Amino acid sequence: MSAAEWANWDGRQRARPRVLASPRSLAELAQLVGAADACGEQVRVAGAGHSFTALVPTSGTLISLRELDRVLDIDPVGGRVRVQAGITIAALNRVLDRHGMAFENLGDIDSQTLAGAVATGTHGTGSRLGNLSSQIESLELMGADGQVVVLDERSDPEGLRAARVSLGALGVITALTLRTVPAFRLHGRDGPAGLAATLERLQELADAHDHFEMYWFPYSDTALLRRNDRTDAPARPRSRARTYMEDIVLVNHGLQALSRLGRRHPALIPVLNRTATRLAGSSERVDRSHRIFVTPRLVRFTEMEYAIPREHAATAIGAIRDGIHAARLPVNFPIEVRFVAPDDALLSPTHARASCYIAVHTYEGMAFEPYFRMVEEIMDGFGGRPHWGKRHFQSAATLAGRYPAWERFQAVRRRLDPDLRFGNDELARVLG
Ligand SMILES: Cc1cc2nc3c(=O)[nH]c(=O)nc-3n(C[C@H](O)[C@H](O)[C@H](O)COP(=O)(O)OP(=O)(O)OC[C@H]3O[C@@H](n4cnc5c(N)ncnc54)[C@H](O)[C@@H]3O)c2cc1C
Repeated sequence: MSAAEWANWDGRQRARPRVLASPRSLAELAQLVGAADACGEQVRVAGAGHSFTALVPTSGTLISLRELDRVLDIDPVGGRVRVQAGITIAALNRVLDRHGMAFENLGDIDSQTLAGAVATGTHGTGSRLGNLSSQIESLELMGADGQVVVLDERSDPEGLRAARVSLGALGVITALTLRTVPAFRLHGRDGPAGLAATLERLQELADAHDHFEMYWFPYSDTALLRRNDRTDAPARPRSRARTYMEDIVLVNHGLQALSRLGRRHPALIPVLNRTATRLAGSSERVDRSHRIFVTPRLVRFTEMEYAIPREHAATAIGAIRDGIHAARLPVNFPIEVRFVAPDDALLSPTHARASCYIAVHTYEGMAFEPYFRMVEEIMDGFGGRPHWGKRHFQSAATLAGRYPAWERFQAVRRRLDPDLRFGNDELARVLG
């Protein structure tokens, strides 16, 4: 029995698997998978543990690919990079940077592994841009027999579309080939704007910027807008001292202090939220894309995020605001709003649908369920599809009808993992 324990980023998902291993080669990986298969045991793969849901835990064999994190091929002219699945987005950003290449779009952190981010449909914001998985051209997948198959448009297009957002349900992804774009700079502008006026212009704002994002602290009349646009202007990065002051001291430590105070004195939350909004202020800079996309997240929270048809965004946000205010919910973390283009991965929350993602958070140690259930009911009304890596209360029965390609994914799963070797309790709940 393994004594080692695995825990995710917010510490609320834990596992004490029988085997917890970090293979150093494909042969070692095949041996681990084969041994688990021989004794009829479940196999799960852990990325960087940044999912809030119980996708990773198992009492069987839990594998981390942290030692399989190399760049296998890089082609700056064709804009392709083939990497082992355990590489983190941060490490890949450094390599791409050196070769004048970049991710087309990114979420707000870079600690995830590429395979883990792709597996849950991780996304950034940009109404004309798809999620990370939409940039994956091919995947290499190890099945329960220890054999690796290549899934691409030629060999197995349906398998590729299933494996691009797989929740780890089809096998162990050992390598991925990512389409990149030439390195670019972003002009990032953050600043406040009236909430009512922003909601009126939300669709227009989403289309007017390459990457538009809105934050809103409940009980405030002001929204915080983040507008990032491509530019040829020379880089004007912040100094190290200013970066530390703004990102660490003001945003993270400031938010931490206000969140703690709000947790101890919930009645103060409306005032604290308005203070946080005022403190956020305005800022402007030009820098390499990944430096603008990615921000440090030191304050621990838990999160739920839903993708809904983008045309309902303002109505849904208004309903959440009314729900929080009516029940006087102690919510001291902002609501985050992003836009993502449709794609064709079978279980992508943005499958065939131009989407608005709405994320709600609660500070660590605070009750999340009443708030998240209230928001989920609103999202249900818009046919919302949950982010696979973030909390939700759905099941296969409630999810199947929201995914036009649900049955196609199940068919690929039956073909690639007929014995459900790569399942766990969470997958039984959400995939059946
Ligand atoms: C602070 C924070 C900020 C975040 N920001 C964003 C954001 O901006 N946008 C967004 O969309 N999401 C965001 N997320 C969610 C996060 O991107 C996803 O949960 C992502 O899946 C985490 O990647 P990971 O490497 O930690 O994978 P894990 O959480 O460890 O695993 C995720 C899934 O991938 C599977 N998996 C991992 N590696 C493999 C493999 N090699 N083969 C098969 N399956 C595999 C696992 O089994 C699991 O099902 C954020 C999360 C946190 C904690």
